[in-house]
Amino acid sequence: MRLAAALLLVAAALAAADWTAAGKAWWKHVEYLASDKLEGRNVGSPGYDQAAAYVTAQFEKAGLKPGAGANFFQPVQFTESTLKSWGLALVRGVNSFDIPVPGEAHLGFSPDSASQIEAPLVFAGYGLVVPEAQHDDLKDLPVKGAVVVYLSGGPDKIDGNLRSHYSSTAERWKAFRAAGAVGMIAIPDPRSMEIPWARQSLSWGMPRMSLADPALSSTRSLKFSAAWDPDKADDLLAGSGHAFEEILEAAHQQKSLPHFKWNATIRARVSVSNRTLASKNVVGLRSGDDAQLRNEYVIISAHLDHLGTGKPVNGDRIYNGAMDDASGIASLIEIASALKKPHAAAKRSILFLAVTGEEKGELGSEYFAAHPTVAGRIVADLNMDMYLPLFPLKWLEVQGLNESSLGEDVRTVAHAAGVQVQADKEPNRNRFIRSDQYSFVKHGVPALAFKFGYIPGGTEEEIFKDWYTNRYHGVSDDAKQPVDLAGAAQFNEILKNLALRVANAEEAPSWKTDSFFRRFVKPTE
Ligand SMILES: [Zn+2]
Repeated sequence: MRLAAALLLVAAALAAADWTAAGKAWWKHVEYLASDKLEGRNVGSPGYDQAAAYVTAQFEKAGLKPGAGANFFQPVQFTESTLKSWGLALVRGVNSFDIPVPGEAHLGFSPDSASQIEAPLVFAGYGLVVPEAQHDDLKDLPVKGAVVVYLSGGPDKIDGNLRSHYSSTAERWKAFRAAGAVGMIAIPDPRSMEIPWARQSLSWGMPRMSLADPALSSTRSLKFSAAWDPDKADDLLAGSGHAFEEILEAAHQQKSLPHFKWNATIRARVSVSNRTLASKNVVGLRSGDDAQLRNEYVIISAHLDHLGTGKPVNGDRIYNGAMDDASGIASLIEIASALKKPHAAAKRSILFLAVTGEEKGELGSEYFAAHPTVAGRIVADLNMDMYLPLFPLKWLEVQGLNESSLGEDVRTVAHAAGVQVQADKEPNRNRFIRSDQYSFVKHGVPALAFKFGYIPGGTEEEIFKDWYTNRYHGVSDDAKQPVDLAGAAQFNEILKNLALRVANAEEAPSWKTDSFFRRFVKPTE
C-alpha cells in the first residue's frame, strides 16, 4: 500500500513537472513572437512577416503541409487609412463648440469617411434593430440624413446571442444605412468599458485597415463615426433636455431608453490618405487519415497580428501582444507538434490557421471564410484568442458552449482532464462575436472560443479583471508578465483532444436546433 502510494506521488509530481516543461516550450514561442524585435506584429509590417516566417518554419517542423495550395501563405489585400488632419464641433443655433479629439471623442476613419460633413443628431436608445425581438430603436425617428447617437449594449429582454449579433458595428450600421443615416456616434456604457477612456486615447489615431475588396467592407458608405467619452456625454446631449445620467440609470434598471431629436448638428472634418497593403494568413494542413473524411476540415485558429507600435507609454512604444494573441499562435504550434504523425490518428483533416488583421476587425479570418484555401467542407472552428492562462486551469470558460454539438465535445475532453466547463459569464461583452470564430459562424460553421474560467468573487476574478484594466491592448501585455505555464500546457492538451475528437467523430458538428446561429448555415448543406 505504502509503496503504491509513494509511486503515485512520484507519478503525480512527474506529471506536474511535465506540464511546466510543456508550458515552457509553449512560452518560448510567445517570447519570440512578443519580442520587441517584431514590433507588435502590425499588419503589413516587417515584424508581422517575420512572425509569419517563424510560424511557417514551426508548422513545417511539426510535419504540417502547406494549406493554401502549394503555399503556407494566403495573400490578403488591405487598404490602410492614415489620418492626416481632423476637426470636430457641435453646433447649436449660432454657436459652435470645438470638441477636443481624442480628449472627448474618438473619430472613426476609413476610405468611406467624408472629408467634410454637417448633420443633425438623433438619439436612438441602444441603436438596435432586432426584428426577432420586435425591437426597433429607429422607429418614428427622423434618421434620414442624420447621425445616430446610441448607448452601447442592449436591454436584457433581448436574448444574449440576438443582442450580440445585432450590436456589432457592422449590423448596427446596416440598419442605420438602410434607414438613410449618414453616420453614428457610440457612447460606451462605463460599466462595460474594457479599456479606460484615457488609455483608449493613447492608441487612437493609429492607421486603420479595411479589406481592399469593397464587397467585404462592413462599413460601406459610413461617412462619419465617433465614440464619445461617457464622462462628457452631457456636452453632446446639451440642449436635448436629457442628461446622460438619466439615460444610464434607465439602462441599468432595464427601463426603456428615450428616443429624441434635438436642435444640434455635428460638424466634422476628416482628411485621410489611403494606400493598399499586402499581408497574409498562414495555413498549415494535417491531412486526414480517412480517404473520405479528409475532405472535411476542422480548423484551429488564432491571430498572428497585434497593434504594432504607438506613442511611448513610460518609455515603451511596442504593443507586444503576448497574451493577445502570441499565446494562441504558440498553442497552434504546440498542438500541431503534438499531433505530428504517427502520434495520433485523425480521420478528418485539421487546418492550423494563423490569421492576419484580427485587430482591424477580424479581417483575415473574414477573408479566409469568404475565400477558403481548401475545397472541402469546413466543419468546425476552434479559436484561441487570449485565453488568458493567468492562474491554474480549474475552469474553462467556453463561448458558444450551448449553441452546437461542440459543447458536448468540449465538456467530455475537459472533464476527462479534471477541468470544469462554464458558459460565457459576461455575455454583454459580446465576446463570441468579437473574434475570429465569428467569421466562420457567419458562414454556418459551428465554433467555440475559450477563456480560463473562475468562480466570481475570488482572487482569480481580481487577476482576470486587473489584466483587462492594466494590460489589455497595452504595452505591458508583453513576455515579462506573470503566466501559469502548467495551466497553458493543460489547455493545449484539452484543445488537442478536442480537435481529435471532432476530427474522428462519426458525424460532423451541428448547431442545436434552437440556436440563433443556425440561420447562417447555407441551405444546400
Ligand atoms: Zn486584441
